[in-house]
Amino acid sequence: MLKSMAGRTVIVTGGSKGIGRGLAVRFGAAGLNVLVVSRHLAEAEAVARSIGDHASAFAADVVDQASCDAMAAEALNRYGSIDVLCANAGIFPAAKLGEMTAADFDHVIGTNLKGTFLSVSACLPTMKRQNKGRIVLTSSITGPITGYPGWSHYGASKAGQLGFMRTAAIELAPWNITVNAVMPGNIFTEGLDGLGDDYLATMAASIPMKRLGGVDDIANAALFFASEEAAYITGQTLVIDGGQVLPESLGAIEAMG
Ligand code: NAP
Repeated sequence: MLKSMAGRTVIVTGGSKGIGRGLAVRFGAAGLNVLVVSRHLAEAEAVARSIGDHASAFAADVVDQASCDAMAAEALNRYGSIDVLCANAGIFPAAKLGEMTAADFDHVIGTNLKGTFLSVSACLPTMKRQNKGRIVLTSSITGPITGYPGWSHYGASKAGQLGFMRTAAIELAPWNITVNAVMPGNIFTEGLDGLGDDYLATMAASIPMKRLGGVDDIANAALFFASEEAAYITGQTLVIDGGQVLPESLGAIEAMG
């Protein structure tokens, strides 16, 4: 049982859908004030309404510094603190090498990696003033551990988040700001659903637990990183994937019977 986090404030980028919505709902249920952030305000508002009066929505684009700064200012203005940032907004369009353009690459890196930097940077002045903060990045198994055709840019962005995290964790330790990352496997979200039934079925078959994860699986891990109990954990990762990275070959899955 974690100590209560009621009354604290969390910003969730990419909070209108999928894993981010799961984070927003879980943190809201734990009593935190939640700023649900995405580019489309109406979708973020619907999530905030579903959480209750202690949640609200804000439209921001994580590729844009002014937008991220406005997001942080608004959280402070509405709730008086920024205790937790879930830097979760991300995209995963596919393009194989040879077809991938420089613009494709910039788009994915700009959103997933630079967007992480901009979101974190925007919250730091407040967290440093508080002498306390929790930052939880949504990375992935894809990039840091595994690869998948079409996602060289995506994998680079997700591995890049972990490189960013390790130095950020050192730099921010004097202010009691921790920076950790969840590394989801295949989690059923709107974004993943968009990859098609064949992709979902093949993935489920390759996971020892034989099923995709749910957004709560990620949210529970993020809530732990945000808790008092995790105050001395920084620069670390947690893979949440039903064992997906474990089989050494397809044969290992077949041998399960
Ligand atoms: P999703 O269902 O497509 O949702 C993505 C969210 O990010 C939406 O709320 C979207 O809202 C927001 N977003 C996208 N671009 C944005 C931008 N430039 N600025 C602000 N918000 C933006 O995706 P998901 O599957 O939940 O994935 C969320 C995160 O988990 C990503 O970082 C992804 O890499 C990571 N992840 C997912 C899985 C998985 O299996 N689902 C696995 C590993 C890692 P708007 O479009 O309104 O902005």
